[in-house]
Amino acid sequence: MAQPPSAHRIPLVQRDHRRNFQENLYVYAVVSRRSKGVSIGVNLNPDKICNFDCIYCQVDRKTAPVVREVDMNRLRDELEDMVDLVTTGRLFELERFRETPEELRRFNDIAFSGDGEPTTFSEFFEAVQMAAEIKKERNLLEVKLVLITNATMFHKPQVQEGLALLRANHGEIWAKLEAGTDAYYQQVDRTSIPFQRVLENITNEARRGPLVIQAMFLRMHGLPPSEAELEAFCQRLNDITKAKGQIKLVQVYTVARVPAEDYVSPLTRSEVDHIVELVKSRTGLAAEAFYGAD
Ligand code: SF4
Repeated sequence: MAQPPSAHRIPLVQRDHRRNFQENLYVYAVVSRRSKGVSIGVNLNPDKICNFDCIYCQVDRKTAPVVREVDMNRLRDELEDMVDLVTTGRLFELERFRETPEELRRFNDIAFSGDGEPTTFSEFFEAVQMAAEIKKERNLLEVKLVLITNATMFHKPQVQEGLALLRANHGEIWAKLEAGTDAYYQQVDRTSIPFQRVLENITNEARRGPLVIQAMFLRMHGLPPSEAELEAFCQRLNDITKAKGQIKLVQVYTVARVPAEDYVSPLTRSEVDHIVELVKSRTGLAAEAFYGAD
């Protein structure tokens, strides 16, 4: 039987989150509902090494990396070329982007994300500087610089300089926080970095300026997070705001692509909605749901 058209059906081009583009090593483009436009991705971790080992990670670590180092000259060339492709509209002549709806053909951001934690890259500051310069040279002041991060390195002085530069150039920091308790954090993010370190880093950075929180919730062995865990998560958000940290949005999302562990599966839409409502009611913060491949 034919499926009725769904209001939630996501066009194919928005479900294509491949982190590759032609022969590029570091720079790719995605059309993103979450960004409401085109996001140019910059992968500062082509070696696929991360200081987290999230059970839902979508990075394919079974395939060896093509390169392990970031060549900054090549990164600049790739980024300039990609920015020019987007701004001239030539990107949408390519088969992969031809279906992009008109309203999503806007250039929203340059995002540091990729196959590991971007702030662990030794030249993170220089990479932010490069993106800011490219934006400035082309008068793209409204295009955001977005950092998608697990917040583990914010206490490092050189990372702080990069964050400040990012903020000064229409930057947004999207920090991962997806647990309320240390035990759940360890189960999901699997790292030797203490939960307290992440909480302190997020709190301190949120005191310098507003942050977006990215919260991934999922099923483990078929079970969604407990209500107690979700309440504890809201409490952590309240701890940040009570310490005068500013959170401008909590993005609640779930697994959309093949996760690292096969015992991980997505929440239902109503379960994601429930978390969003809980966050709003317990914290008074703005919260948004993202389902599937956003
Ligand atoms: S922080 Fe990101 S890249 Fe690192 S393991 Fe988690 S999901 Fe993967």
